[in-house]
Amino acid sequence: MPRLNELIEILSEPAVTERYAHAKATKTCKICKGPATRFRNTPSSCEYAISAICQRCQDLYFYDCLPSEEALSSL
Ligand SMILES: [Zn+2]
Repeated sequence: MPRLNELIEILSEPAVTERYAHAKATKTCKICKGPATRFRNTPSSCEYAISAICQRCQDLYFYDCLPSEEALSSL
């Protein structure tokens, strides 16, 4: 998790914390405020249910160190 510290910093901002309920109610992301309606798999949608973080931000902050699906399929 190379960007974990960055994520912790973002999540500790009061503005981001305050957006949580609104983000869940409107199916948007509390970090980027973008739509959060599509998820790759069940763990990702569960993560949104817990954290209100969209797939794109999950990829960016949680899975930055993992190979992309394109990289895996070209093996
Ligand atoms: Zn987002």
